[in-house]
Amino acid sequence: MAAFDYFKQTVGKAADLLGLTETERTKLMTPDRILKAGITISLDAGGTATFPAYRVEFNNARGPYKGGIRFHPAADEDEVEALAAMMAIKCAVVDIPFGGGKGGVAVDPKKLSQRELHELSRAYVRAFADHLGPDTDVPAPDVYTTPEIMGVMLDEYENIVGKPSPAFITGKPLDKGGIVGRDTATADGAIFVLEALLADRTMDAGKLSASVQGAGNAGAQAARLLARMGTKVVALSDSKGTLINMDGIDVEAALVHKKVSGTLAKQGQALVAPDAGLDVACDILVPAALEEQIRKDNVDTVKASIILEIANGPTTPEADEALAARGVAVIPDVLANAGGVTVSYFEWLQNKSGEVWDRTRVHDQLAATMKDAYRDVADFALDRGVTMREAAYALALSRLLGK
Ligand code: NAD
Repeated sequence: MAAFDYFKQTVGKAADLLGLTETERTKLMTPDRILKAGITISLDAGGTATFPAYRVEFNNARGPYKGGIRFHPAADEDEVEALAAMMAIKCAVVDIPFGGGKGGVAVDPKKLSQRELHELSRAYVRAFADHLGPDTDVPAPDVYTTPEIMGVMLDEYENIVGKPSPAFITGKPLDKGGIVGRDTATADGAIFVLEALLADRTMDAGKLSASVQGAGNAGAQAARLLARMGTKVVALSDSKGTLINMDGIDVEAALVHKKVSGTLAKQGQALVAPDAGLDVACDILVPAALEEQIRKDNVDTVKASIILEIANGPTTPEADEALAARGVAVIPDVLANAGGVTVSYFEWLQNKSGEVWDRTRVHDQLAATMKDAYRDVADFALDRGVTMREAAYALALSRLLGK
């Protein structure tokens, strides 16, 4: 099923819960604007190439459209639209004054030189400059776009408007107005939510075990924090394979080894299949890699009783229903991974006010925001007898409608 259909299905369930009218449903499922352009760059080898580019402005009822720009060969209108819609939900769940937007270019960035990539980044900003801006539509990094690319995009935007405008984009390098802690914000936020759930259930992190799928930006930090909480990380995977140790993996050592040699496994350690961590016996499963990992065909093998969705869309709707029927607590992506956009909001506030936030302020504000959001979602779920995903979407929809 296409990504945007998943979104509509989940919104439909939450809308039933709230008793929304057809007009309200249509408004929540329809983007304000889909912008498209062909962006052309000159190639180092001579000649030019043109790539399809998108910016979807989904909903700005609560503030400027907000969302990353991805450079990926599979980026298309459906994917960008679904991601923009999810951003609107996510910002409303954590109650920050941003709407939902997303951008994409259908390009394989690995095939471009640094000069070509920079030209592409500048061309993207020029193509959509009439719509982008600190008070209208604020981009950020996403798949294969980096702080460095954000710096280039900011420079292009400032050339166009003729004045400094750091709040135009978030995820910038620190020396261009970026914020400390943005790199770990997604996993930090997810762990704050997990801690709140464990406290609610009087569960001791030190007596639990976890499996983390993905050892990239988000997964590595999540595994590190789990280990620091005393949770036994029994499986950790990346695209090359899964490291399993039922006595507990030395997470720091595995991550250092990955940095040095490109693989999580040291000599003498064997890696099993990349998806082998999904059905390992553990209490907490943390999908932090790709979408559609927990599906109808493998959901029955999942043994964890808590799933912390750091990846976007790791659970299909059918699997979600099966997990709910078994009483598995799924902390949904729109809550679990909203720490990234929350710290982006702090960056934007910092740029707007001219202040510089320190690490303690970022940490404390993020913890407060994520724990408040968890409380709202968990209370709604308990009151209405629904899953945390349904509760998060219902809360977000009512906030988007100003109810
Ligand atoms: P990343 O590219 O840094 O890391 C992805 C990791 O997943 C890598 O370690 C990769 O090896 C691993 N991986 C890829 N295929 C795999 C497979 N088949 N099995 C196991 N592991 C596999 O990406 P990231 O920034 O860490 O993002 C991970 C997920 O979190 C994505 O779904 C992303 O949309 C979501 N997310 C990230 C952020 C953020 O701020 N980084 C914010 C919100 C959501």
